[in-house]
Amino acid sequence: MPSASSAGHFGARSPASCPKTVVARSGHATERQQTGPPGHANPSRLPVSQPATMRPMSDPSAAPKPLMRYRPYWAKRFGIAPFLPMSRQEMEALGWDFCDVILVTGDAYIDHPSFGMALVGRLLEAQGFRVGIIAQPDWHSVEAFKQLGKPNLYFGVTAGNMDSMVNRYTADRKIRSDDAYTPNGEPNRRPDRAVVVYAQRCREAYPEANIVIGGIEASLRRIAHYDYWSDKVRRSVLPDSKADILLYGNAERALVELTHRLAQGEKIEDITDLRGTAFMRPRNWLPDADWVVVDSTEVDTPGALIRHPDPYGMAPAPSTPSPQTTQIVHLHTRRPRLDRSKTVVRLPAYEQVAADPVLYAHASRTLHLESNPGNARALVQAHGTRDVWLNPPPIPLTTAEMDYVYGLPYARNPHPSYGGARIPAWEMIRFSVNIMRGCFGGCTFCSITEHEGRIIQSRSEESILHEIEAIRDKTPGFTGIISDLGGPTANMYRMACKSPKIEAACRRLSCVFPGVCENLNTDHAPLIALYRKARTVPGVKKVLIGSGIRYDLAVRSPAYIKELAQHHVGGYLKIAPEHTEEGPLTHMMKPGIGSYEKFKQLFDQFSKEAGKEQYLIPYFIAAHPGTTDEDMLKLALWLKKKGFRLDQVQTFLPTPMALATTMYHTGLNPLRGLKHPQPVDTVRQGRLRRLHKAFLRYHDPENWPLLREALKRMGRADLIGNGKKHLVPAWQPAGTGTKPEGLRGARRARAAGRH
Ligand code: SF4
Repeated sequence: MPSASSAGHFGARSPASCPKTVVARSGHATERQQTGPPGHANPSRLPVSQPATMRPMSDPSAAPKPLMRYRPYWAKRFGIAPFLPMSRQEMEALGWDFCDVILVTGDAYIDHPSFGMALVGRLLEAQGFRVGIIAQPDWHSVEAFKQLGKPNLYFGVTAGNMDSMVNRYTADRKIRSDDAYTPNGEPNRRPDRAVVVYAQRCREAYPEANIVIGGIEASLRRIAHYDYWSDKVRRSVLPDSKADILLYGNAERALVELTHRLAQGEKIEDITDLRGTAFMRPRNWLPDADWVVVDSTEVDTPGALIRHPDPYGMAPAPSTPSPQTTQIVHLHTRRPRLDRSKTVVRLPAYEQVAADPVLYAHASRTLHLESNPGNARALVQAHGTRDVWLNPPPIPLTTAEMDYVYGLPYARNPHPSYGGARIPAWEMIRFSVNIMRGCFGGCTFCSITEHEGRIIQSRSEESILHEIEAIRDKTPGFTGIISDLGGPTANMYRMACKSPKIEAACRRLSCVFPGVCENLNTDHAPLIALYRKARTVPGVKKVLIGSGIRYDLAVRSPAYIKELAQHHVGGYLKIAPEHTEEGPLTHMMKPGIGSYEKFKQLFDQFSKEAGKEQYLIPYFIAAHPGTTDEDMLKLALWLKKKGFRLDQVQTFLPTPMALATTMYHTGLNPLRGLKHPQPVDTVRQGRLRRLHKAFLRYHDPENWPLLREALKRMGRADLIGNGKKHLVPAWQPAGTGTKPEGLRGARRARAAGRH
């Protein structure tokens, strides 16, 4: 994908109004660069105190301080807590008067590295801090937020492992009947937009306390964003929560450094140099006088129109100028090289992106292009009279640091206060091991890349095998089956760009779209070796792979597919082609269905060789931006031809910050430049969304009336009938056909059972 900021020639001029401003016309956006103090901001009159010596932002090419190298805080002498305390009594039992940090979370507290509060809590404990947990507090009053007292350093607030709106509502905006992160799956144990609500309550409880927000909800709502549930562009969570600082992405580095610096007496408002952080500042604030502002608040406007000869007109074309005619010589001024670590890109303001879809799409595109820690610049976006300032993303953890984080002394159990309550998310992951983080796939409907980054961070074999032994020895109910060795994807373990230098300079949003990049190392050997060792751990009978297989990578290693099919599949393997048609697949940035067919052929071959009857269960998305009714019809015909009758299907859910959400909201494609905005088909009306979902479940009689009507409208009535070539029958079973997709309760799958 072309870069938004480095392409094209550079024309410099100096508007009289601002002699220090130059206008850079990039391929896609108009950028004005301001050197020194911008416009109205005279540093001597800035209302924010600036430390005498600003620490420079960490250079991405310099190795950051390892997490294990910090000198522990004095409270380390209290030792390791069996569980992080959730009550005063537990604090007293540990000999604590205070907590240094109190984590407030929307999930039940499960002391396992798959749950954010446990990972963050144990990491800070290892650094010597006393960490308490307030899990799923009653937000209707302030009392629950006072139960552990005022923290010495800060409240750390998170909605939990999921965005609270995704957790609570379906893609049809209906309230879910359960919550996987709550004891007994009880619903309604967290508020909508939990980060904002919890942070406000913490502030109310202790107005002087520092408030740090983080986790996926804060992370993906760090700038102005489209919110599907209120169908409008909302402000960054920073002004609404009134938090002091926001940590985005996987925040271990920022968290550890921030906590130590606060413990050493630095003020939270003075800590502005940490990667992966965002905060509010007065309009036009800059960390230092030598920062440069690249103004990207407008989409490029065409210059003077050059009239082309009318090919249909009768007037003669202008004659070619003679060689003697005076020629205009174009002087191409080179774009001055800017120090990216001291450059901030100004995005269109919240008010602008809320009012103008093109500017929203442009801001979204720019944010995604500034996501590689190797070259990303800081971003700033005005909200009213203040700015939301975003430092560049965090530097990924090394393998040694990943091992350190995952090797902390987790109790590997829910907090005892839950008694024997069943917590569905815990049931799901307690026998699985997270082997890596990050994803370089860049699927537009998914926000993992925006949160975890696209550089893969892998654990060592030893660390993973050690965790398998810990599951065997400590996790109640272990029967010898490891349910997953995975992460955001199953098979990106240890994969990376061949050259760190190229990787640091790269601005592509995906290493595998439109094709697998020639610089990507797709060697599956380390993963095969890991699988082999994992299944020979004494006490382990079987190791299954539950994470999604990236099959366009897997087909490059038949040896991997063989290993997978012969040893690591329990009859069915879930796989996600998401669609069959080029239009939606291109808008999703997913590979063509040809890769799936090739994977299937190898999977079937190796399963047969092993004497196993095994099947692929494909997953598809209905109503994704870029999908037409015809695309869904073709997918339905493909499903019918292949004999698939899907039970669980998914309608596109526009989650905050995803590129596909931008397409949904704006009807424009941010993957292309926005100088000439490219419209995208979007499916917004409930009825059309239901129709697209109904195509995926063409075999369900409840959907037949809707499908018949659509087929007639599309001129495909020939597909209605009772033969094999037809998609839906002409007849209707008695008592069916009144509740198509999206108009049924949670147990609407009963109908599928009849087929
Ligand atoms: S593999 Fe290709 S797309 Fe990925 S970081 Fe390297 S150069 Fe960029």
